[in-house]
Amino acid sequence: TLAAGTASAETLRVVTDPSFVPFEMMDQETGEMIGFDMEIIAEVAKRAGFEYDLNTMDFNGIIPALQTGNVDIAIAGMTITEAREEIVDFSNPYYDSGLRLLVPKGNDDIKVLADLEGKKIGSKIGSTSYDFLMKNLDDNSGVTPYPGSADMYLALMSGAVDAVFYDAPNVGYFARTKGSGKVQTVGPMYEGQQYGIALKAGSEWLDEVNAALASMMEDGTYKTIYEKWFGP
Ligand code: GLN
Repeated sequence: TLAAGTASAETLRVVTDPSFVPFEMMDQETGEMIGFDMEIIAEVAKRAGFEYDLNTMDFNGIIPALQTGNVDIAIAGMTITEAREEIVDFSNPYYDSGLRLLVPKGNDDIKVLADLEGKKIGSKIGSTSYDFLMKNLDDNSGVTPYPGSADMYLALMSGAVDAVFYDAPNVGYFARTKGSGKVQTVGPMYEGQQYGIALKAGSEWLDEVNAALASMMEDGTYKTIYEKWFGP
């Protein structure tokens, strides 16, 4: 048997979304993935005692990849839902989130979900925001699903869609950075949700991951990482 700590010889396969700002995104200069999730998983791995290879994958492919065992762990601003919990194991929540509307600056037609009827709306395939629109719009024929958030935001900036409905921290960050002066978040926060780290069902690393997260929350490391990306 391995003594505690020696399991670190294992290299786990970790995946993330190519772009879910500011949780994961490519540093244009170094080509490395950076962001809140990237620092969380690095610290979790250190404390839990595993090495990992990091790859990116369209969000919609992540749960199937965990299901088939092609990857061990996913950290991708992934919302903990009952349906997903039947397929993968989630860590304890590490981030409180929700869904919000993003529209071109100066657009006064769209303020709340009901205003989306008859409009063109961008959402992301396989995400909770897409499911929410399918469930809550009387007419969802105007919803276009995008495989990646970068394309979805481009569609909004080019006028191909009238609004984007997506994760609140993500649309908020986009509105403050690349979309500054061009787009704005509007309306309330919909569907309070929480993000968790997803592990292949039955993973032996679940308890270690939870213990690592708990210790990071207790000793202030989580707070330091949080404030670096989201402010005080
Ligand atoms: N939080 C959303 C979900 O889990 C979107 C995550 C993402 O696009 N990376 O569905």
